[in-house]
Amino acid sequence: MVDGHIHIERGKYTLEWIGQFVNKGLEQGLDEIWLLEHCYRFQEFVPMYDSVCAYSEYVDQWFHKVAGVLQLEDYLRLIHKVRESSFPIRIKFGLEICYFKEFESLVADLTKDKGFDFLLGSVHFVDDFAYDHKAEHWNNVDVDRIYQGYFESSVELIQSGLFDGIAHPDCIKLFGHTPTFSLDEYYEEMAQALSAQNMYAEQSSGINRRCPDTAELGMNQDMLKCMKKHNIKIVTVSDAHCPEDVGWKILELNRLIAEA
Ligand SMILES: [Zn+2]
Ligand SMILES: [Zn+2]
Repeated sequence: MVDGHIHIERGKYTLEWIGQFVNKGLEQGLDEIWLLEHCYRFQEFVPMYDSVCAYSEYVDQWFHKVAGVLQLEDYLRLIHKVRESSFPIRIKFGLEICYFKEFESLVADLTKDKGFDFLLGSVHFVDDFAYDHKAEHWNNVDVDRIYQGYFESSVELIQSGLFDGIAHPDCIKLFGHTPTFSLDEYYEEMAQALSAQNMYAEQSSGINRRCPDTAELGMNQDMLKCMKKHNIKIVTVSDAHCPEDVGWKILELNRLIAEA
């Protein structure tokens, strides 16, 4: 079993810290853990966020607390150190990268030939709106428009050819909002694009862990069925932000994939 999305951001870059993720992974019966960082932790990616910070004072304050605290080189050094060591579980290293159409070439330049095992693309903003922070931020938004923007951006992310996988592909549902139209066509469009780019989609337990009352576990059933119909590779992930959450509900995620 694999947990393909684990954030290491809450600790120092030491082998001891990585060991905590390994131990929890073993305890959970995993064969493979994929460790990553949000790209905005690194100074090099900070310019991508000017417009989302300008759009919202809340995002601006949050961003300046968490962003640009490291340089990409710091992470690459840790990756090298871990690869030189031996751990009783397979470890991959990647980046979770916020997708902004206008910064495709910056992302390509910054990630080229860096030796990452995987690059994961995420839609965390729709027309500058940070939809996944707080439910009350949705109070005055047009839900249909946000859903459309989210899925259009997801398709562009896939077609950019920059990424190996797409993160939490229907995360937009996290606070329980639903559009007035069917999403089937978007699922179909995403699956076809994923197939053309030979990319994987995540089956994630992260949103359900965060919003158990409003978000089901993993992908929407119809989306999952559509991915299976197109033979898209599906990677099970916890989106853990601490060692304790590694492997969370991975077994159930696998069961849902098998039964879809
Ligand atoms: Zn994410
Ligand atoms: Zn994540």
